[in-house]
Amino acid sequence: MEPAKKVAGERKELFIDGQWVKPATGQYFTPINPATEEGITEVPLAGERETDLAVTAARRAFEEGPWSTIKPLERGKKIFRIAEVMEQQAEELSLIESLDTGKPLSFTRTRDVPFAIDLLRYYAGWANKVYGTTLPTDETALACTVREPVGVVAIITPWNSPLILSLMKIAPALAMGNTLIHKPASWTPLSALKFAEICQAAELPEGVYNVITGPGDTVGTRLVTHSDVNKVSFTGETVTGKVIMEKAAGTLKRVSLELGGKSPHIVFADGDLEAAATFAAKGFCLNQGQICWAGSRLFVDEKVHEQFLDKLLRHVREDWTVGDPMDANTRVGPLISRSHLQQVLGYIEDGKKEGAKLILGGDRPPMKKGYYLNPTVFDQVDNRMKIAREEIFGPVLAVIPFKEFGEVIEKANDSFYGLAAGIWTKDMKKGYQAARRLKAGSVWINCYGALDIMAPFGGFKQSGFGREFGQEVLPLFTETKTVWFQM
Ligand code: NAD
Repeated sequence: MEPAKKVAGERKELFIDGQWVKPATGQYFTPINPATEEGITEVPLAGERETDLAVTAARRAFEEGPWSTIKPLERGKKIFRIAEVMEQQAEELSLIESLDTGKPLSFTRTRDVPFAIDLLRYYAGWANKVYGTTLPTDETALACTVREPVGVVAIITPWNSPLILSLMKIAPALAMGNTLIHKPASWTPLSALKFAEICQAAELPEGVYNVITGPGDTVGTRLVTHSDVNKVSFTGETVTGKVIMEKAAGTLKRVSLELGGKSPHIVFADGDLEAAATFAAKGFCLNQGQICWAGSRLFVDEKVHEQFLDKLLRHVREDWTVGDPMDANTRVGPLISRSHLQQVLGYIEDGKKEGAKLILGGDRPPMKKGYYLNPTVFDQVDNRMKIAREEIFGPVLAVIPFKEFGEVIEKANDSFYGLAAGIWTKDMKKGYQAARRLKAGSVWINCYGALDIMAPFGGFKQSGFGREFGQEVLPLFTETKTVWFQM
């Protein structure tokens, strides 16, 4: 048996109401390993009928309990148990995630899977720590609030870090007592199906977590418009977020949206240039640049521009080796698909046509198979060029020189995105003032891409709304109910 099939199995089924269900359509699709361009396994192509079955299962599980009604401490214990089973299957899950996405195995082993386990444990601990309040009425009444689960939640996730981005939603949603239908991206459905196996092994009650694989415009649309779904928690492109918001309006669903970015990363002349160069390289190479918070617009103070670019190019060449995701030395794997690679190559052509100066990459390494692209750097980019305005979602960096503080803040904010930003300076007053003026959900001073479960993450402007991580996501998976007792 091929190694991919060995770990992923010959054929997967849908996970509905605790059972593995064949699609009524009888149709399957084949996710492709982006490193080998070969099919990994077969995955059901669900339609509206299967989606409805999953919604019915999640609704029944929510209304009948026990998940939504048991003591929160017991819910927490079950989520701890899921984390334990995931830990036992960590190696297999790391392999699946790497085969499905092209992420280097060294990263899925040390970052994605351990972080997913941490997410489960962190939110398991929150299950019994979300309180209501007692309201200051007069003595003729007692009024209090209780925090209840929202109900049936559709979790719709993208392909770039499928496991982590899913667990960021699933763990808090489960902890608050909701029941879920998960629709993973069609390019990367395998970690969601593996997670279903883990939930089954951990004896999560039937119908609490359901997985439907299939296209966004049928399965996704059905979830977003279904009258029995109370909330949609979505991560993906800004353009899809807008469609979802519009469609969810028909049933006034709760919606939270984690969307795209074109984040500014600013290097002032007085910053630690060596450290800044390390992080600037990471900011566009990590995960092949397929990261929502990628620091894809690099603003460099003219005074240190040349010196800084020398350091940056050295770090990209030395630290970000392109290669087979299974090779321990690889830090940049293939892009997710042929069509995405073509799209990113199209942006590289746009950059050349618009007059930006290509100083690194722009071409493909000599592998026989796989959607590989060399890290690419454009210098002398104007903030109005297409490569500075649109989210490329590949290892392509736009370097934009600047002269002054006011000018760089204005240009950094001149984007319809507002997900993240970075600043390098030794002057903390300047750093703090810049952080306060930048319109972004996360601002990193003298670091880039620092993430922690406890630190809220999300977007300003068209990068979305609602926050994930930490305590801030919990109200998004609960409703507040006020209860009055008249004495
Ligand atoms: P996408 O919007 O194409 O797809 C995301 C999910 O939505 C997939 O499961 C897809 O099948 C589904 N979908 C598509 N059309 C739909 C519809 N009409 N109704 C319901 N569901 C639908 O995004 P992608 O290409 O998978 O992911 C990349 C994008 O995600 C980038 O823009 C990236 O910045 C963003 N992202 C944001 C964050 C964040 O935290 N802000 C994190 C990761 C990725």
